[in-house]
Amino acid sequence: TRNKVLVSACLLGERVRYDGSSRPVAHPILEQWQQEERLVSVCPETLGGLLVPRPAAEIQAGFDGKDIFHEEGKVITRQGHNVSQYFVRGARRTQELALKEDVAIALLKANSPSCGNQQIYSGEFSKQLRDGQGVTAAALEEAGIKVFNEHQLEEADAYLASLEEPLTTSADA
Ligand code: SF4
Repeated sequence: TRNKVLVSACLLGERVRYDGSSRPVAHPILEQWQQEERLVSVCPETLGGLLVPRPAAEIQAGFDGKDIFHEEGKVITRQGHNVSQYFVRGARRTQELALKEDVAIALLKANSPSCGNQQIYSGEFSKQLRDGQGVTAAALEEAGIKVFNEHQLEEADAYLASLEEPLTTSADA
């Protein structure tokens, strides 16, 4: 069987973002994965119990998703509400789903406080990005699942192909 790919639901056109929008990606690699029935769609924030629409949230300055997953620091809305518990629950449930479905990699939306794999917003609602992971991206990496974003589709596809290369032994030579 082919390796599965966990994908942020908003990248598949589901209107689950905080403002009720989606960020659909039209790319031949994603279309091919879809045809190959590899895709497992998930939105960690709605899985964690948050609604659509919901207030925008950012990980507090000085912390990243890994800290939040281990219950240090906070995810806050612009009004200062602590919404960490929803992000942690969503990350745990996404991790469980990934293990249950035996996914090989994840393709998650860049810059999200849940899904971002390399960068997240500052925590000051100033539109500034900083290095760091979202809560779910950190949880998946802890479970040994490599996380890519929608700008890394080629890299993700090459990695997937490397997992599926037939093993050769000296007996084949
Ligand atoms: Fe998209 Fe992830 Fe945000 Fe859900 S939590 S809307 S899947 S970026």
